[in-house]
Amino acid sequence: MGWGILRVLVAIVLVWIVVLVLMLAAPAAEFRAAIGIDPQAWFAGGAVLGLLLGYAALIRRARAAAVRRWGQADSPGLAALSDKAARVDTATSDARRTGWGEAQSEALDRYARHIVLREIGGPGQARLRDSSVLIVGAGGLGAPAALYLAAAGVGRITIADPDEVSVSNLQRQIIYRSSDAGRPKGLAAAEALRALNPLVHIQAMRRALDKNDEALIGEFDLVLDGTDRFATRAEIGTICAKAGVPLISGAISQWEGQLTLYDPSAGGPCFACIFPEAPSEGLALSCAEAGVAGPLPGVIGSMMALEAIKQITGAGASLLGRMLIFDGLYGENRTITLHRRKDCPVCSGVEQNDAEA
Ligand SMILES: [Zn+2]
Repeated sequence: MGWGILRVLVAIVLVWIVVLVLMLAAPAAEFRAAIGIDPQAWFAGGAVLGLLLGYAALIRRARAAAVRRWGQADSPGLAALSDKAARVDTATSDARRTGWGEAQSEALDRYARHIVLREIGGPGQARLRDSSVLIVGAGGLGAPAALYLAAAGVGRITIADPDEVSVSNLQRQIIYRSSDAGRPKGLAAAEALRALNPLVHIQAMRRALDKNDEALIGEFDLVLDGTDRFATRAEIGTICAKAGVPLISGAISQWEGQLTLYDPSAGGPCFACIFPEAPSEGLALSCAEAGVAGPLPGVIGSMMALEAIKQITGAGASLLGRMLIFDGLYGENRTITLHRRKDCPVCSGVEQNDAEA
């Protein structure tokens, strides 16, 4: 009949009231027998329906409020979002076909569980979208971190890894399929991330990073290091400290993992403050030598992603100046306090940024 939803609802409510009145009216016994429902059931049914409709209306209002908050957070950002969707360079013809409004609506649906979180909300989600993160190493730690950050809508993710996927990686690096064996890790990981979230821009680099990558690292808002070579970790720590880029660093061995946030520009220590020297031979065994429980890197890598989301959105308290140590074998967590070393050769010259402190 071309009626609007409001008119239909009013009509239903009127019919419901008329039937209820007829049922309650004295000579209504025949009518009641004819439709076979007693007044209590009719009343209860109407009440339940009313509650459901009221709940649906509340959800719609909350959603509309989220849309407004999203828009206020960064009004040109919506254009950037659909622009991002259009730039995705894989099999994302869907995203390319996506128009302006649809990209926004898809993002709202996709990130709805973040947007309702008080600590993230529309503004936090916009910050995630506008941020760029470098993930060094697409192994046990980098892979789950990358999955969660792509899923969370971090706008630009770059993965650097020189290795290829081997069958022995598949016991824990669940971003890869068996069919990825022999393929470059960065490439296979980037494919998986694009399939997970076509709204984010993913880049892969098929090489290790070293001390010459200062300019590259300086371009990012945040670096996640999940590599297992001490020399690489120390070099990344030095570059991040000097460039003023916060570094979330995770490590695992056998059943135990640890993670922290290094950021001397915010008053915390750098990697060299805590690990001034390389461990002696035999003390720091790699996963290949010492073994590692499959889900452990998933735990620590996911925690790295969690810390990254907190760092970008400003939610909660970061791990600046604290190291979280997780013992999977005994199910225990502990946190130790870390201090910046005054005579640290790496960060003693780094000025503390008052705005961030
Ligand atoms: Zn230092």
